[in-house]
Amino acid sequence: MTQPGEVAVRALVLTQSEDKTVTATFRDDLSTSDLPGGEVLVAVEASSLNYKDGLAVLGKPGVVRKYPMVPGIDLAGSVLESSDARFAPGDPVLLTGWGVGEDHWGGYATHARVKADWLTHRPQGMDARKAMALGTAGFTAMLAVMALEDHGLTPEMGEAVVTGASGGVGSVAVALLAAKGWTVVASTGRTQEEGYLKSLGAHEIVPRGFLSDLKRPLEKERFAAGVDSLGGSTLAGLLACTRRAGAVAACGLAQSAELHTSVMPFILRGVSLLGIDSVMCPPERREAAWERLNREAPQVLFQEGVREHPLSEVQALAERILAGQVRGRTVILP
Ligand code: NDP
Repeated sequence: MTQPGEVAVRALVLTQSEDKTVTATFRDDLSTSDLPGGEVLVAVEASSLNYKDGLAVLGKPGVVRKYPMVPGIDLAGSVLESSDARFAPGDPVLLTGWGVGEDHWGGYATHARVKADWLTHRPQGMDARKAMALGTAGFTAMLAVMALEDHGLTPEMGEAVVTGASGGVGSVAVALLAAKGWTVVASTGRTQEEGYLKSLGAHEIVPRGFLSDLKRPLEKERFAAGVDSLGGSTLAGLLACTRRAGAVAACGLAQSAELHTSVMPFILRGVSLLGIDSVMCPPERREAAWERLNREAPQVLFQEGVREHPLSEVQALAERILAGQVRGRTVILP
């Protein structure tokens, strides 16, 4: 029951029973007084669906660390109340990572109360839906591009390959790299998405096995740069065919968390493996990445690579993202 001064909250709430079964329930009987602690109350206008959200919503182990939990690792909206001087009512904000949706109630709700340190001011002109069309996946793709650039790589040095290219991180990485002038090779298990990936700027499409079937410690040199969402044999194959002094940004584990490789690419070709962590990325780099996303993410990404769905459909969508069937990015509207 909502008391005077409180605001009614609708949310998807995950609970865990004694036998560890996780149940997802849509609740409309909550209020802002039920939300966890934090300096800023945000009216959520949009959230998004990431691979991690799929795991959380379906009760897979390794994401949610306490129950009850409102999942949703991303959110964007406007500030309703703030006891922190950096944020005032009405400020447009976004949040990705920091354990939100994992150990602090997240974005699959109409409201969220969060720590001010976790919030990013939304760049000028970026509305909540656009922010969530990018979300953690888009932010991660930009961090990967920045890491490759910081390494000194430029489009003149050769081709860039993106694995899991039809997915969230992959789609944004293809679009960002192509917009920066890279010749992008998109590796995908869904060759039927060739038209889509080419519309994002991919120059060539290769099937998944193109990298994962490479088994020798060193293969013929091909790519100057790589953005990998898969791990496993795909990342191992990619390292083996990365050119001298090239680099691969390792973002994900959609294929496997394991990596069986050799030191040969590192010691004989000076190849670098760059780790990307979007969750605990420091605030200054976050702001820089979001400003760049606002300027550089091409319009075609939002036209071709983004779908919007109501929160009520999130369980079915979670099944699809874990099955590798979601193309691009999914905005969730509470
Ligand atoms: P998506 O599900 O949107 O994309 C993953 C893509 O990987 C799929 O679309 C598919 O692409 C491919 N894929 C899926 N399953 C397999 C498989 N078994 N074998 C080979 N390829 C597969 O997920 P996201 O883009 O949201 O996330 C991608 C990965 O990055 C996840 O592991 C996620 O946890 C991780 N991640 C890490 C972050 C970080 O901070 N480091 C932040 C964000 C995500 P296709 O059909 O084109 O082959």
